[in-house]
Amino acid sequence: MRTDTGLVGYGEVRGNCSYVTGDIPERVVAVASALASLLIGEPLDDIAPLLDRMERAVVGNSAAKALLDIALHDVVAQALGISVATMMGGRLHSRLPTDYSVAFGPHDEAADKARNAIREGYRVVKVRVGLGLERDEERLKAVREAIDEEPEGGNVTLCADANGAWQPKEAVKYLRRWEHYNLGWIEQPVGADNIDGLRFVRENVAMPVMADESARGPREILHLIERQAVDMLHFKLIKAGGFAPLRAMMAIAEAADVPYMIGQMDEGMLATAAAVQAGAASRAKYFEVHGYNRVGAQPFRGLEVEGGSMIVPAGPGLGVEVDEAKLNCVHVVREDG
Ligand SMILES: [Mg+2]
Repeated sequence: MRTDTGLVGYGEVRGNCSYVTGDIPERVVAVASALASLLIGEPLDDIAPLLDRMERAVVGNSAAKALLDIALHDVVAQALGISVATMMGGRLHSRLPTDYSVAFGPHDEAADKARNAIREGYRVVKVRVGLGLERDEERLKAVREAIDEEPEGGNVTLCADANGAWQPKEAVKYLRRWEHYNLGWIEQPVGADNIDGLRFVRENVAMPVMADESARGPREILHLIERQAVDMLHFKLIKAGGFAPLRAMMAIAEAADVPYMIGQMDEGMLATAAAVQAGAASRAKYFEVHGYNRVGAQPFRGLEVEGGSMIVPAGPGLGVEVDEAKLNCVHVVREDG
C-alpha cells in the first residue's frame, strides 16, 4: 500500500487456507483487489472508516480483509513513527516465548526435533496428531520420553493438535488413554463446526481443550464461551480478518477469563510479524509465532527467535524490511479508473 508521501505498507496472508477460512489463493487475490480499490485516494488519518467500508462491501473473506488491514496498520504506524503494537495500545512484552510445532513425520524424527527445540530454549512442544491411534501414540510417546530425558524437561509443556480429525467419542477414547503423557492441552480435537462435540470432549477428558479452527472471529469466540465448549482459544489474524476484530476477540476472552494463544498459519515472516505485533500488545498466555522458517525463501528480514522467544521488533510499522526487487507486483487501480 503506497501513500502519496512515499511510504509503503505491506500485508501478507496465506492463500491456500481452504481448510480453515475456505480460501484459495485466487479468491484472496480477487477479493483483496476489489477491496483495495475502495481505499485508493482515501486519507489514512483514521483507519476505522476504511475498515468499515471493507466490511460493508463483502461478508466474510477474513483472509483478504486481514491482508489489507495489516498493510493499513503497517503504513499508518510508519507514518506515526511507531510500531503496530504501540498503535494497538502499547507493548506489554518485548519477547514472546513461542511454542515449537512438530509436524507429521517418523516418531524418532519427532523426538529429535523436540529435543533440539528444548535445547534451543523452547518450553512448549506441540505435536500434530490425527493419523490414527497407533501412529499418534508412537509419536506422542517418543516426544514425551525425549522431553523427560532433557534436564529442562520438567519446565516443558507437551500439547497436541488434532486439527479437527476426530469424532467426539473417538477423541475421548484416545485422550483418556493418553492421560499419562500429561498433555498441557489438546487443540481442536473435533471439527470446526462441532461445538457440542468440543463441549463433550471438554467434559469427558482431564486436559484442557483449546479451539483453533472453531475460534474464527469475535462471534464464534463468544459462542464457544457461552456454550462452555472450551478451556483455551487460539487466535489468528487470518481468521479474525484483521487487528480490530482480533482485539475484540482478546477482550471477550479476557472478560471471560479464558486463556488464549496468538498464532499464525505457518505463513511467511511478514504475516508472522503482524501476529508478533498483536501478541506484543496482548495479554495472551501462549504464542505460536515461529512457523515462517518452513515457508522457504522470502523477501523479508527483521524477525529473530532467540532462545525459543521471538524478539518483538522495535522499528516502526510491522518492523520487517521487504526486498521489493523480489516481489511480483499486481497494481490495483480504482474501479472508476
Ligand atoms: Mg491448530
